[in-house]
Amino acid sequence: MRVPRLLTSLWLVAGLCASGAWAQGSALPAPLSVAVVNRMFDAWKAPVPPRQLAGNVYYVGAIGVSSYLITTPEGHILLDTGFAETAPLILRGVEQLGFKPADIRFILSSHAHIDHVGGHALLKQAVSGAQVVASAADARVLESGGTDDFIPFPRETILYTPVKVDRIVADGDRIALGGVELTAHLTPGHTRGATTWTMQVANASGRFWDVVFFSSASINPGTRLWRNPLYPEIADDLAATFARLRALPCDIFFAPHGGQFAMADKFARLDRGEGAEALVDPVGWRKLLAAAEKAYRDQLATEQIPSPP
Ligand code: ZN
Repeated sequence: MRVPRLLTSLWLVAGLCASGAWAQGSALPAPLSVAVVNRMFDAWKAPVPPRQLAGNVYYVGAIGVSSYLITTPEGHILLDTGFAETAPLILRGVEQLGFKPADIRFILSSHAHIDHVGGHALLKQAVSGAQVVASAADARVLESGGTDDFIPFPRETILYTPVKVDRIVADGDRIALGGVELTAHLTPGHTRGATTWTMQVANASGRFWDVVFFSSASINPGTRLWRNPLYPEIADDLAATFARLRALPCDIFFAPHGGQFAMADKFARLDRGEGAEALVDPVGWRKLLAAAEKAYRDQLATEQIPSPP
């Protein structure tokens, strides 16, 4: 059994978790133990300095779980809140960047797992004017505090303070604020309501970059694609999600975990003064999708399920 190291290529297809042990006598990876999940989560909670990424997009997450702040003259949008334990880092980071947490208007999420929405309740309480936004399927999980989730992880590792969702988004819905528009693309599979968000960011040459905030599309260890009683349509959903993600225009992409978008390398290039151009990586986006889809197809083969067309 091994625990994934921080910021390694394992994270290319990692979502809530990465590599699992292979169960004795079983073709599929076994679910992770409490100790392994906790060790993995703890490694993700260390602080990193907040920073500007591109235009009005900032990183305010921890080392292993991302949070993004999108600022506008009329208030701000926060995408993902990490764990409850790392939510204070977000508030501190927003202040360090010169913005006011009280100006956050919307709290969005990539998907309703504890490492990305565990801080929702705390942040909603800290920022009284903020609305929590989610897809209908993820809203059910958020409002259950994680109990209404199909993930085969030990219960004690996946539960968080339930939070009421104020606004439900359907596929193609937009969150508009202060001249910024974020579009929701429902990309289910990693969770039933996983949501990829897209926006445009102006660049120095007077054009716009297409920016994608990936939802994750990995299959957590122990999750069955074939006849999964908790999520019977998971295989078809993932097939549709990969097709949908491939069709998105993308110059710059971000993800719920830094390793999924080569955060260490890209931040090092920002530190060297290369500017937001260092984040332009359409090839990396294609590779991330190809790796995630390969993992999916490999599991279909392992479970001897014919690939959806
Ligand atoms: Zn996840």
